[in-house]
Amino acid sequence: MVVAGIREDADHYYPAESGGILLGYISDREAVITAFVDGGPRAIRLRDGFIPDQEYHVDSIARVYRDSGYQTTYLGDWHSHPDGPLALSWRDRRTLRRIAGYREARLPTPVLIIIGGSNDWSIAAWTVYSKSCSIIRQYPNLPIRTFP
Ligand SMILES: [Zn+2]
Repeated sequence: MVVAGIREDADHYYPAESGGILLGYISDREAVITAFVDGGPRAIRLRDGFIPDQEYHVDSIARVYRDSGYQTTYLGDWHSHPDGPLALSWRDRRTLRRIAGYREARLPTPVLIIIGGSNDWSIAAWTVYSKSCSIIRQYPNLPIRTFP
C-alpha cells in the first residue's frame, strides 16, 4: 500500500517532482513504515524541485500520532526523481543530515525514500548514520520490514 501509493502519486505528477512524508514506528532498530502522506494542498511541484506543504505535514503527524494511541510517528520523507536516478542529490544528503541533527524530531536515523525513473519506477530507501548517508533497501526488496 505504501509503495503502491507513492508510485501512484509520482505517476500523477510526472514529469514534475512530487513527495511527502513517511509515518510508522521503530521496532527492534528497524523502521516499520505503515503509511505515507502526500505533499499536501499547498505543495509546489516543479520539474526540478519539490516544496512540501509544511503545515499540512505538521497537522498530519499530530493527527496520526494521536489517533494511533501515540505509536505512529514521523520517520522521514519521500520524493520522486522523474527520469532521474535513485541516488541522493547533495541537497537530499543535506536534508537527511539536517533531520538527523534536529533534536526536536528525536529521529537520529531518518528514512528518505527516492522513487526514480518514469513508467518503470524504481524505489530505494536511504538513511544517515554518523553523518554518512547509505542505502538500506532497494525495490523489490522493500519492505523495510512490513511494507504492505
Ligand atoms: Zn532528491
